[in-house]
Amino acid sequence: MLHTVTLALTKGRILKESLPILSEAGICPIEDIFDSRKLMFLTNIQHLRLLILRGVDVPTYVQFGAADLGITGKDQLLEHGGEGYYEPLDLKIAKCRLMTAALPSSEVKLERTVVATKYVNVARRFYAGLGRQTELIKLYGAMELAPLLDLSDEIVDIVDTGNTLAAHGLVAEKLIANISSRLIVNKLAMKGNFTVVNKIINSIRNVVGSENESN
Ligand code: AMP
Repeated sequence: MLHTVTLALTKGRILKESLPILSEAGICPIEDIFDSRKLMFLTNIQHLRLLILRGVDVPTYVQFGAADLGITGKDQLLEHGGEGYYEPLDLKIAKCRLMTAALPSSEVKLERTVVATKYVNVARRFYAGLGRQTELIKLYGAMELAPLLDLSDEIVDIVDTGNTLAAHGLVAEKLIANISSRLIVNKLAMKGNFTVVNKIINSIRNVVGSENESN
């Protein structure tokens, strides 16, 4: 009997853009995900089920083997640190940039810069690489408000069109990383369940192209 394989998806924009890729790869949920409050779905493939998670949780589920595979943004992988999984495929969807931003008038402080972000690990590494001292403030949303209300000097956030920053009078400054969604695979699942897991990876690779990016 085949062991059930679990693929964790990221709700929101990434889900909307990954479902057509999965469908083209022959993987379809047996009910409408958007029409349900459920977080776990069976698929047309008997031994494959889908989870719908927040992006921040996908690397954790895959790291500990609660999910065998996952699809989430590179921003979440950079923040998580990459332990316990491989990153075999760039799906080239939900593209955006991880950037620093500040009010246009602000000068780079020589002493400690206060940075508000949900990406505290990424920010810590990035500013350390610039040789700048920071105090990091962890937020879970609405980062754009922090410089306006003097909570922070700068923010680290996802930028797509730049409209959200502009609406708050902020300007994007330094590019930390170009972001797209990636397929990740639990290291043990890759070994123990090689045939099924590899078949899923290959069917998705056939849709998104063979270019293998894992930076
Ligand atoms: P924008 O106004 O187009 O620059 O979009 C910025 C906001 O949209 C960010 O604060 C993010 O929350 C969200 N966003 C944009 N692109 C993505 C993406 N690929 N993945 C997740 N969130 C995104």
